[in-house]
Amino acid sequence: PRLANQIAAGEVVERPASVIKELLENSLDAGADRIQVELEQGGVKRMLVRDNGQGIAEEDLPLALSRHATSKIVNLDDLEAVRSMGFRGEALASVSSVSRLTLTSRHVDAEQAWQARTSGRDMVPEVSPAAHPVGTSVEVLDLFFNTPARRKFLKTEKTEFNHLEEAFKRIALSQWHCFLSLKHNGRQVHSLKACSTRAEQEKRVADLCSPDLMQQAVFLEMEHLGLRLWGWLGLPTFNRRQADMQYFFVNGRPVRDRVVSHAVKQAYRDVLFHGRHPAYVLYLELDPAGVDVNVHPTKHEVRFRDSRQVHDFLFRTLHRALAEVSP
Ligand code: ADP
Ligand code: MG
Repeated sequence: PRLANQIAAGEVVERPASVIKELLENSLDAGADRIQVELEQGGVKRMLVRDNGQGIAEEDLPLALSRHATSKIVNLDDLEAVRSMGFRGEALASVSSVSRLTLTSRHVDAEQAWQARTSGRDMVPEVSPAAHPVGTSVEVLDLFFNTPARRKFLKTEKTEFNHLEEAFKRIALSQWHCFLSLKHNGRQVHSLKACSTRAEQEKRVADLCSPDLMQQAVFLEMEHLGLRLWGWLGLPTFNRRQADMQYFFVNGRPVRDRVVSHAVKQAYRDVLFHGRHPAYVLYLELDPAGVDVNVHPTKHEVRFRDSRQVHDFLFRTLHRALAEVSP
């Protein structure tokens, strides 16, 4: 099982950012509305995710770390279940096989907290009593310490941190109800209050993306034939950094999609005669039956049932919004 786990881990745990994405999704699945992330040395030395979710019962702790042991009821017809499936019960097992992992949790109904530790090859976790408020902490130390070939593929601390921050941003830009904090090497990078108004959302977007983007951005909201698009649209600049500020969510899930980016680019090009470095944070909502989000569980791909309709709706809506604000 150890070898199998490491092979699986090689596929799913590409770098620290892929670990953080899975841990954050687990916290959200557990109903957390307060999540703290602490990182050291681009996450390679240490990653900690602490949440206030429902927690894990003592007897379920070893199970949470074993392969194919998902507690999440999975009905394949239910697209939402597919979304929350992550690696189908493999994420924690995979991460624990390539790191020193400590899972500490107190279930809502439990009198006290428990802790399970693994250290790479030692796949049978020891469980011991611990101190922890209701919720869960996952600490991942020394990622890839036992797989030197994997470790060699890691980039500089700065690059790994940038990937980590991106994973954090994508969650933060869609989970408005959640308090989220990010620390790197002891420095507070983001501390985001839960948002319930648009002004609070705009503050979060400015904090995560760029204050400049929000100063000149327009808010748009449009609904047509069951498709709803809302969010912020910035005027493009020739600033290369802004090339990163392109966030598109479909039913709350971050997506990179050719239909979407083509429609956006076309709209910018049509109005402003160039489509370089547009900046946007946009949310498309539609009937889940109209989109297949399970094209690949770890990539941000989707397949629209009627991509022509989605493309035209996006293009027309963005075109109109841009035409209003373009100088
Ligand atoms: P999956 O999320 O696909 O079920 P994971 O390996 O990510 O698989 O997690 C395994 C199990 O561990 C989950 O099904 C859940 O029961 C439990 N778990 C993991 N993280 C948390 C958390 N932060 N809070 C509560 N339960 C968790
Ligand atoms: Mg998971």
